[in-house]
Amino acid sequence: TKRYERGLAKSRKGFGAKINALLANFRSVDEDFFEELEETLIEADVGFETAMKISDQLRDEVKFQNAKKKADVSDVIVEKLVDLYEAEGENEDNQLHFATQGPTVFLFVGVNGVGKTTTIGKLAHRYQAAGKKVLMAAADTFRAGAIEQLVEWGKRVDVEVVRKPEKSDPAAVVFEAVKKAKEEDYDLLLVDTAGRLQNKVNLMNELEKIQRVITRELPDAPHEVLLALDATTGQNALTQAKQFGEVTKVSGIVLTKLDGTARGGIVLAIRNELHLPVKLVGLGEQMDDLRDFNPEEFVYGLFK
Ligand code: GDP
Repeated sequence: TKRYERGLAKSRKGFGAKINALLANFRSVDEDFFEELEETLIEADVGFETAMKISDQLRDEVKFQNAKKKADVSDVIVEKLVDLYEAEGENEDNQLHFATQGPTVFLFVGVNGVGKTTTIGKLAHRYQAAGKKVLMAAADTFRAGAIEQLVEWGKRVDVEVVRKPEKSDPAAVVFEAVKKAKEEDYDLLLVDTAGRLQNKVNLMNELEKIQRVITRELPDAPHEVLLALDATTGQNALTQAKQFGEVTKVSGIVLTKLDGTARGGIVLAIRNELHLPVKLVGLGEQMDDLRDFNPEEFVYGLFK
């Protein structure tokens, strides 16, 4: 968890420190206190709706527990933030799903630059190191350099990449990769795709075709459709998520570059406004800088 704490350092110093300062300086848990709390939450990218919801729940809980001391109020806040995250869905919801038999397939979507390829490289490294047989598919054939970038990661983490020339049909790349994964008993196939939100109809058709190709070979796959969002883009990330939700069925979020923001509250906004679980968080550019998301670890990492 050392690395986790380091990855959250900015948010600890920003969001976390503001909440802690508020707690250290308040005289009584009155309207002023809640107003200031709401402001702090909104500034931390929690979003207006979610900030109000948190504040309302805290009001009730503070009353209910008759919490007056700083330490008690602080505990209630931490408790509520964790609860709020978990109450929205089942707990295991933020875990990755794997095939019970045959290769597992994760499909990655998201606009350029959010950290899709990096996340795929990190995950490949994680499972490769755990002794799994991992394959990657370079199905972002649209963006110049995307294929090379994945191939670079393949070399770095010693994982094979299925590729075709630039501008090839992405579904053809995926077809070849899925076939290979099946025939050669791979455990995990990670598929990179192009995230062209500018042309939603094309993107939708492309993703549908890719999914069809996967499902034809492996009826239970893909086991995850992971949308990568850049935490440093704040509320824009929410807009992107809504737009991707319109073109494909997303099963979870990879929140990247959490190390690059002081406003880690975006995690709560995603959960509350989109009802999507954050499954992975990116905490840096290196291959070990990826964590499964755990609400408790996250909230404690911010405030304690
Ligand atoms: P893609 O276009 O979505 O595939 O994005 P890339 O994987 O190429 O990432 C874009 C940039 O973000 C690269 O410079 C990455 O090193 C950087 N990046 C990706 N994930 C993280 C992260 O979790 N933290 C930080 N600090 N940088 C990241």
